[in-house]
Amino acid sequence: MLSVENLGIQFGGLKAVSGVNYSVTPGAVNAVIGPNGAGKSTFFNLISGFYQPTSGRITFGGEDVTRMPAHKMATRGVARTFQTTSLFKELPILDNVLQGHRLRMRSGIWDAILRTPRLRSEEREARERAAFALDFVGLSPRDPRPVGMLTQEAQKRVSIAIALATDPKLVLLDEPAAGINPDETEGLVRLIRKMVDQGYTVCLIEHKMNMIMNISDHIMVLHHGQKIAEGAPREIQGNPAVIEAYLGG
Ligand code: ADP
Ligand code: MG
Repeated sequence: MLSVENLGIQFGGLKAVSGVNYSVTPGAVNAVIGPNGAGKSTFFNLISGFYQPTSGRITFGGEDVTRMPAHKMATRGVARTFQTTSLFKELPILDNVLQGHRLRMRSGIWDAILRTPRLRSEEREARERAAFALDFVGLSPRDPRPVGMLTQEAQKRVSIAIALATDPKLVLLDEPAAGINPDETEGLVRLIRKMVDQGYTVCLIEHKMNMIMNISDHIMVLHHGQKIAEGAPREIQGNPAVIEAYLGG
Protein backbone atom coordinates (compact mmCIF):
# COMPACT_ATOMS: atom_id res chain seq x y z
CA MET A 1 0.00 0.00 0.00
CA LEU A 2 0.92 3.66 0.19
CA SER A 3 3.57 4.98 2.59
CA VAL A 4 5.15 8.38 3.03
CA GLU A 5 8.38 9.30 4.74
CA ASN A 6 9.20 12.80 5.97
CA LEU A 7 6.70 14.16 3.44
CA GLY A 8 6.49 17.92 3.04
CA ILE A 9 5.47 20.73 0.74
CA GLN A 10 6.12 24.40 1.10
CA PHE A 11 4.17 27.21 -0.58
CA GLY A 12 6.39 30.30 -0.32
CA GLY A 13 7.11 30.52 3.39
CA LEU A 14 4.20 28.27 4.39
CA LYS A 15 4.88 24.64 5.29
CA ALA A 16 1.44 23.29 4.37
CA VAL A 17 2.59 19.73 5.10
CA SER A 18 5.82 18.90 6.90
CA GLY A 19 7.70 15.89 8.18
CA VAL A 20 4.81 13.45 7.85
CA ASN A 21 5.54 9.73 8.26
CA TYR A 22 2.53 7.56 7.58
CA SER A 23 1.38 4.26 6.10
CA VAL A 24 -2.10 3.59 4.80
CA THR A 25 -3.59 0.44 6.36
CA PRO A 26 -4.70 -1.83 3.49
CA GLY A 27 -8.33 -2.94 3.38
CA ALA A 28 -9.36 -0.37 5.96
CA VAL A 29 -10.96 3.05 6.32
CA ASN A 30 -8.07 5.42 7.02
CA ALA A 31 -9.21 8.84 8.20
CA VAL A 32 -7.23 12.06 8.02
CA ILE A 33 -8.63 14.73 10.32
CA GLY A 34 -7.58 18.11 11.67
CA PRO A 35 -8.78 21.72 11.95
CA ASN A 36 -9.40 23.86 8.88
CA GLY A 37 -6.18 24.65 7.05
CA ALA A 38 -4.34 21.77 8.74
CA GLY A 39 -3.04 20.50 5.40
CA LYS A 40 -5.43 17.57 4.85
CA SER A 41 -6.37 18.33 1.24
CA THR A 42 -2.76 19.23 0.48
CA PHE A 43 -1.73 15.83 1.86
CA PHE A 44 -4.22 14.16 -0.53
CA ASN A 45 -2.91 16.27 -3.41
CA LEU A 46 0.60 15.05 -2.60
CA ILE A 47 -0.21 11.37 -2.39
CA SER A 48 -2.33 11.45 -5.55
CA GLY A 49 0.35 13.24 -7.58
CA PHE A 50 -1.47 16.56 -8.01
CA TYR A 51 1.25 18.35 -6.02
CA GLN A 52 4.96 17.54 -6.08
CA PRO A 53 6.49 17.33 -2.59
CA THR A 54 9.37 19.62 -1.67
CA SER A 55 10.71 16.99 0.72
CA GLY A 56 10.36 13.31 1.52
CA ARG A 57 9.36 10.16 -0.27
CA ILE A 58 6.16 8.41 -1.34
CA THR A 59 6.01 4.70 -2.11
CA PHE A 60 3.07 2.72 -3.43
CA GLY A 61 3.11 -1.06 -3.71
CA GLY A 62 6.88 -1.01 -3.20
CA GLU A 63 7.47 1.46 -6.03
CA ASP A 64 8.92 4.93 -5.47
CA VAL A 65 6.19 7.26 -6.77
CA THR A 66 7.47 10.46 -5.16
CA ARG A 67 7.29 12.62 -8.29
CA MET A 68 4.77 10.64 -10.27
CA PRO A 69 2.10 12.88 -11.84
CA ALA A 70 -1.59 12.31 -11.08
CA HIS A 71 -2.55 10.60 -14.35
CA LYS A 72 0.19 8.02 -13.78
CA MET A 73 -0.78 7.55 -10.14
CA ALA A 74 -4.27 6.78 -11.47
CA THR A 75 -2.86 3.99 -13.65
CA ARG A 76 -1.12 2.57 -10.54
CA GLY A 77 -4.45 2.44 -8.74
CA VAL A 78 -4.74 5.65 -6.73
CA ALA A 79 -7.98 7.54 -7.34
CA ARG A 80 -9.40 10.57 -5.62
CA THR A 81 -12.80 12.18 -5.64
CA PHE A 82 -13.19 15.82 -6.39
CA GLN A 83 -15.84 18.12 -5.02
CA THR A 84 -19.20 17.80 -6.75
CA THR A 85 -18.57 21.25 -8.24
CA SER A 86 -16.19 19.58 -10.71
CA LEU A 87 -18.94 17.42 -12.27
CA PHE A 88 -20.32 18.24 -15.74
CA LYS A 89 -23.69 19.39 -14.39
CA GLU A 90 -25.50 19.45 -17.73
CA LEU A 91 -24.46 15.90 -18.69
CA PRO A 92 -26.12 12.69 -17.47
CA ILE A 93 -24.49 10.40 -14.91
CA LEU A 94 -23.01 7.92 -17.39
CA ASP A 95 -21.23 10.59 -19.44
CA ASN A 96 -19.69 12.00 -16.27
CA VAL A 97 -18.32 8.58 -15.36
CA LEU A 98 -17.05 7.85 -18.89
CA GLN A 99 -15.08 11.12 -18.77
CA GLY A 100 -13.33 9.86 -15.64
CA HIS A 101 -12.37 6.58 -17.27
CA ARG A 102 -10.56 8.33 -20.15
CA LEU A 103 -7.78 9.00 -17.63
CA ARG A 104 -6.69 5.41 -17.92
CA MET A 105 -7.12 4.85 -21.63
CA ARG A 106 -4.02 4.09 -23.61
CA SER A 107 -5.36 4.95 -27.04
CA GLY A 108 -4.32 8.29 -28.52
CA ILE A 109 -5.39 10.70 -31.21
CA TRP A 110 -4.58 8.32 -34.11
CA ASP A 111 -6.67 5.57 -32.56
CA ALA A 112 -9.53 8.07 -32.34
CA ILE A 113 -9.20 9.19 -35.96
CA LEU A 114 -8.76 5.69 -37.36
CA ARG A 115 -11.28 4.05 -34.96
CA THR A 116 -8.74 1.32 -34.26
CA PRO A 117 -9.67 -1.99 -32.60
CA ARG A 118 -7.75 -0.82 -29.57
CA LEU A 119 -9.96 2.25 -29.26
CA ARG A 120 -13.12 0.21 -29.73
CA SER A 121 -12.11 -2.33 -27.12
CA GLU A 122 -11.13 0.43 -24.69
CA GLU A 123 -14.49 2.09 -25.23
CA ARG A 124 -16.28 -1.15 -24.53
CA GLU A 125 -14.18 -1.66 -21.41
CA ALA A 126 -14.94 1.93 -20.34
CA ARG A 127 -18.69 1.31 -20.62
CA GLU A 128 -18.42 -1.91 -18.65
CA ARG A 129 -16.37 -0.24 -15.91
CA ALA A 130 -18.79 2.69 -15.77
CA ALA A 131 -21.79 0.37 -15.49
CA PHE A 132 -20.04 -1.59 -12.74
CA ALA A 133 -19.10 1.58 -10.84
CA LEU A 134 -22.61 3.05 -11.09
CA ASP A 135 -24.20 -0.19 -9.99
CA PHE A 136 -21.74 -0.28 -7.08
CA VAL A 137 -22.76 3.17 -5.84
CA GLY A 138 -26.47 2.48 -6.45
CA LEU A 139 -27.10 4.71 -9.48
CA SER A 140 -28.46 3.83 -12.91
CA PRO A 141 -26.37 4.27 -16.08
CA ARG A 142 -29.67 4.85 -17.91
CA ASP A 143 -30.76 7.82 -15.77
CA PRO A 144 -31.11 10.55 -18.42
CA ARG A 145 -31.23 13.48 -16.01
CA PRO A 146 -28.42 16.03 -16.01
CA VAL A 147 -26.25 15.47 -12.94
CA GLY A 148 -27.00 19.00 -11.73
CA MET A 149 -30.62 17.96 -11.11
CA LEU A 150 -29.70 15.17 -8.70
CA THR A 151 -29.51 15.56 -4.92
CA GLN A 152 -26.17 16.51 -3.35
CA GLU A 153 -25.86 12.96 -2.06
CA ALA A 154 -26.43 11.41 -5.51
CA GLN A 155 -23.81 13.79 -6.90
CA LYS A 156 -21.37 12.56 -4.26
CA ARG A 157 -22.12 9.02 -5.42
CA VAL A 158 -21.37 10.08 -9.00
CA SER A 159 -17.94 11.39 -7.94
CA ILE A 160 -17.25 8.12 -6.12
CA ALA A 161 -18.33 6.18 -9.23
CA ILE A 162 -15.89 8.25 -11.33
CA ALA A 163 -13.10 7.18 -8.96
CA LEU A 164 -14.20 3.52 -8.99
CA ALA A 165 -14.36 3.48 -12.80
CA THR A 166 -10.57 3.90 -12.89
CA ASP A 167 -10.27 0.48 -11.19
CA PRO A 168 -8.39 1.79 -8.14
CA LYS A 169 -6.85 0.01 -5.18
CA LEU A 170 -6.78 3.12 -3.00
CA VAL A 171 -9.62 5.64 -3.08
CA LEU A 172 -9.14 9.09 -1.53
CA LEU A 173 -12.36 10.79 -0.45
CA ASP A 174 -12.05 14.48 0.44
CA GLU A 175 -15.00 15.45 2.66
CA PRO A 176 -17.62 13.24 1.00
CA ALA A 177 -20.28 14.15 3.57
CA ALA A 178 -19.90 17.92 3.28
CA GLY A 179 -23.22 19.59 2.49
CA ILE A 180 -25.47 16.55 2.88
CA ASN A 181 -28.03 15.80 5.61
CA PRO A 182 -27.69 13.18 8.41
CA ASP A 183 -29.90 10.57 6.68
CA GLU A 184 -27.92 10.86 3.48
CA THR A 185 -24.69 10.67 5.50
CA GLU A 186 -25.87 7.27 6.80
CA GLY A 187 -26.20 6.07 3.20
CA LEU A 188 -22.73 7.31 2.39
CA VAL A 189 -21.29 5.54 5.43
CA ARG A 190 -22.85 2.30 4.20
CA LEU A 191 -21.33 2.86 0.75
CA ILE A 192 -17.85 3.44 2.21
CA ARG A 193 -18.20 0.27 4.30
CA LYS A 194 -19.19 -1.65 1.19
CA MET A 195 -16.12 -0.34 -0.63
CA VAL A 196 -13.86 -1.70 2.09
CA ASP A 197 -15.80 -5.00 2.25
CA GLN A 198 -15.25 -5.41 -1.48
CA GLY A 199 -11.49 -4.93 -1.14
CA TYR A 200 -10.89 -1.23 -1.79
CA THR A 201 -8.70 0.66 0.61
CA VAL A 202 -10.20 4.02 1.57
CA CYS A 203 -8.56 7.20 2.81
CA LEU A 204 -11.06 9.75 4.04
CA ILE A 205 -10.98 13.40 5.05
CA GLU A 206 -14.05 14.39 7.01
CA HIS A 207 -15.23 17.03 9.45
CA LYS A 208 -18.23 15.19 10.83
CA MET A 209 -16.65 13.76 13.95
CA ASN A 210 -19.32 11.19 14.81
CA MET A 211 -19.07 9.82 11.28
CA ILE A 212 -15.28 9.59 11.55
CA MET A 213 -15.37 7.86 14.92
CA ASN A 214 -17.95 5.35 13.71
CA ILE A 215 -16.48 4.48 10.33
CA SER A 216 -12.69 4.68 10.69
CA ASP A 217 -10.31 1.86 11.49
CA HIS A 218 -7.37 4.21 11.81
CA ILE A 219 -7.10 7.98 12.20
CA MET A 220 -4.23 10.39 11.53
CA VAL A 221 -4.51 13.90 12.93
CA LEU A 222 -2.83 16.80 11.15
CA HIS A 223 -2.32 20.22 12.70
CA HIS A 224 -0.38 23.05 11.06
CA GLY A 225 0.81 20.54 8.47
CA GLN A 226 2.26 18.11 10.99
CA LYS A 227 1.07 14.75 12.24
CA ILE A 228 0.20 15.23 15.91
CA ALA A 229 -1.43 11.85 16.56
CA GLU A 230 -2.53 8.61 14.98
CA GLY A 231 -4.29 5.46 16.12
CA ALA A 232 -7.65 3.80 16.61
CA PRO A 233 -10.69 6.09 17.05
CA ARG A 234 -10.82 5.47 20.82
CA GLU A 235 -7.17 6.46 21.23
CA ILE A 236 -7.68 9.63 19.21
CA GLN A 237 -10.86 10.71 21.02
CA GLY A 238 -9.14 11.11 24.37
CA ASN A 239 -5.81 12.41 23.07
CA PRO A 240 -5.03 15.76 24.80
CA ALA A 241 -2.99 17.10 21.84
CA VAL A 242 -5.94 16.45 19.52
CA ILE A 243 -8.44 18.12 21.84
CA GLU A 244 -6.08 21.08 22.20
CA ALA A 245 -5.69 21.37 18.38
CA TYR A 246 -9.46 21.50 17.87
CA LEU A 247 -10.15 23.86 20.76
CA GLY A 248 -7.11 26.08 20.39
CA GLY A 249 -7.40 26.34 16.56
P1 ADP B 1 -7.32 21.54 4.93
O1 ADP B 1 -7.74 20.70 3.78
O2 ADP B 1 -6.79 20.79 6.08
O3 ADP B 1 -8.41 22.47 5.38
P2 ADP B 1 -5.43 22.61 3.02
O4 ADP B 1 -4.59 21.45 2.74
O5 ADP B 1 -6.45 22.96 1.99
O6 ADP B 1 -6.12 22.49 4.44
O7 ADP B 1 -4.51 23.89 3.20
C1 ADP B 1 -3.39 23.90 4.08
C2 ADP B 1 -2.66 25.21 3.93
O8 ADP B 1 -1.98 25.21 2.66
C3 ADP B 1 -3.60 26.41 3.93
O9 ADP B 1 -2.95 27.45 4.62
C4 ADP B 1 -3.74 26.73 2.45
O10 ADP B 1 -4.00 28.08 2.26
C5 ADP B 1 -2.37 26.33 1.90
N1 ADP B 1 -2.41 25.93 0.49
C6 ADP B 1 -3.02 24.81 -0.01
N2 ADP B 1 -2.84 24.70 -1.33
C7 ADP B 1 -2.09 25.78 -1.69
C8 ADP B 1 -1.55 26.28 -2.95
N3 ADP B 1 -1.76 25.60 -4.09
N4 ADP B 1 -0.82 27.41 -2.92
C9 ADP B 1 -0.63 28.08 -1.76
N5 ADP B 1 -1.09 27.69 -0.56
C10 ADP B 1 -1.81 26.56 -0.52
MG1 MG C 1 -9.57 20.52 2.74
